[in-house]
Amino acid sequence: MNRYRQRKKRRRRRIILILVIIAVLAAFVVPYCLEPGVPVLMYHCVSEEPRSGDENLYCRPDQLVEQFDYLKREGYTTLFAEEYEQAYDVKKPIILTFDDGYEDCYTELYPLLKKYDFKATIFMVGEYIDKKGYLSSEQIREMAKSGYVSVQSHTAHHVNLADMSADELDAEFRASCASLAKITGKNVTVLSYPGGYFNDEVLRQAKRYFTYGYAIDTNKYSKDNHYEISRGGVFRNTTLEAYERAIETYSESRIVRDWLKLYYKIFD
Ligand SMILES: [Zn+2]
Repeated sequence: MNRYRQRKKRRRRRIILILVIIAVLAAFVVPYCLEPGVPVLMYHCVSEEPRSGDENLYCRPDQLVEQFDYLKREGYTTLFAEEYEQAYDVKKPIILTFDDGYEDCYTELYPLLKKYDFKATIFMVGEYIDKKGYLSSEQIREMAKSGYVSVQSHTAHHVNLADMSADELDAEFRASCASLAKITGKNVTVLSYPGGYFNDEVLRQAKRYFTYGYAIDTNKYSKDNHYEISRGGVFRNTTLEAYERAIETYSESRIVRDWLKLYYKIFD
């Protein structure tokens, strides 16, 4: 009799445990897995002819037109990098980012943003401001005021942050924020890691200055992890088909996205 009661008690406990596990899955894990992703794209230069360095970093202007036409046609809503959280409130969000602050962001990209009524974020390197081939203070000021461009930090010296001490990181972030804020008159709240490199110390220091940290295809999409936001690169050799596919993949829920990535890896 006693043994029977014990067995019954154990079974009841097991049922309760299973119910708790199901409740936890339903409350946290399932919504997490099904939550759609936010496509974030990383560009660099926009130029018909590549100038120097890696040719693939130079998207052609007509390539951008083709891509922007696609975004318009499909009804995407462009958001600034600092509007990441709002991406979950709009239909078809997309964040367009441009690293390093090349001058063609003013001559080629800016007119297109106005034409298409799109927003983009330029991650500017502090020491490149007013240097040949890069944005001038005046261009940065004009664009930041326009409502089409947000100018955010790509550090002061374009260094590998993962190699720096806590003090060096602090100085780097402080200088970068100060130089940009002085020009735009706005708070700098977003960082793009040069080369996408970061470690725990970088994240710790970045959190003291910024609200968001943008990386490169880290495969981390957590809404709660604002410091490892993944970006897909757009390059000169990115076809429109690959562009569409990247955006669609990024927009899918975590489960579908991971499967798609695996599928493309195997069958491409
Ligand atoms: Zn860069």
